[in-house]
Amino acid sequence: MFELPKINLKGKVSAQEWQTRVELAACYRLFVMHGWDDLIHTHISARIPDSDHLLINAFGLSFDEVTASNLVKIDINGNVIDPNCPFEINPAGFTIHSAVHEARHEDQCALHVHTNETIAIASLEKGLLPLSQYSMFALASMSYHDYEGLAVNHEEKLRLQEDLGTANFMLLRNHGALTMGKTIGDAFMHMYDLVRACQVQLQVMSTGMAPIFVDQSIVDGIKAQANIVHSGLTGGQKAWPAMMRRVSRQYPDFAD
Ligand SMILES: [Zn+2]
Ligand SMILES: [Zn+2]
Repeated sequence: MFELPKINLKGKVSAQEWQTRVELAACYRLFVMHGWDDLIHTHISARIPDSDHLLINAFGLSFDEVTASNLVKIDINGNVIDPNCPFEINPAGFTIHSAVHEARHEDQCALHVHTNETIAIASLEKGLLPLSQYSMFALASMSYHDYEGLAVNHEEKLRLQEDLGTANFMLLRNHGALTMGKTIGDAFMHMYDLVRACQVQLQVMSTGMAPIFVDQSIVDGIKAQANIVHSGLTGGQKAWPAMMRRVSRQYPDFAD
C-alpha cells in the first residue's frame, strides 16, 4: 500500500526528453536539500525542448521520491500523455504553471515554492526591498500577483500572465514565489537568489535597526549585469553542472 509503482523510461524516450527528465528530477532533489519542498505540494515544471509537452511531479510523491522516470508528461492543459502512466498530477496546482508556460514558450522551466521567507516577503505591502546583493538580481526582473484564493480560474490565469509579463521572478501575494528560466539551471539559480534575498531582508528587518538601502540608480543599472552573471556560461550554466553532481552524490537514484 505504501509502495510506489516502479517505472524505467531510460532508453524508451527521446534523448532530449530524457535529459529534461534527469535535470528536472535533480531540481526536485535540490528543493529537498535546500528545504524548499512542502510535503507533496508545489511544483517544478519543464517543457521538453522542441515540443509542446511539459514534465511535472506525480501528485502524492515527496520530492525525494521524484525520479527522471516517474515525472509525468502532460500537455499545456494538464492532460497526461502516456495512457499507461500509473500517476496523476494535481490539476488545480498545475493551473499556475499552465498559465506561465503558455505565456512564455521560450522559457523552459517554472519553479514554484511556499517557503516561509518568500510567503513573508510576498505578504508585505512593499514586498522585496533593495537590501542585499541577492535582491539586486531579483529586483532586476520582479513581478507581483495578488492572491485570489486557492483555485485559479480562467480570468485569474489571464491576470497572472499579464502580471508576469517578461519578468523572471514573481512574488505571489500571501502565497509564495515563482521563478522562470530559459533552462532548468537558470530557473533554479533565480529561485536561489530570491529565497536568499527574502531571508536576508527578514533578518535585517528583525534587528529593528535602520537599514542602508541600495540606491535606485544602482538597482536600475543592475539588469545588464544580472544577465551576465546569472545566465550562460558564467552563471547558472556554470553552477548547474556542479549542482547536478552534488545531487548524484547525495541521491544516486534521482536519475532512475
Ligand atoms: Zn502554491
Ligand atoms: Zn506550482
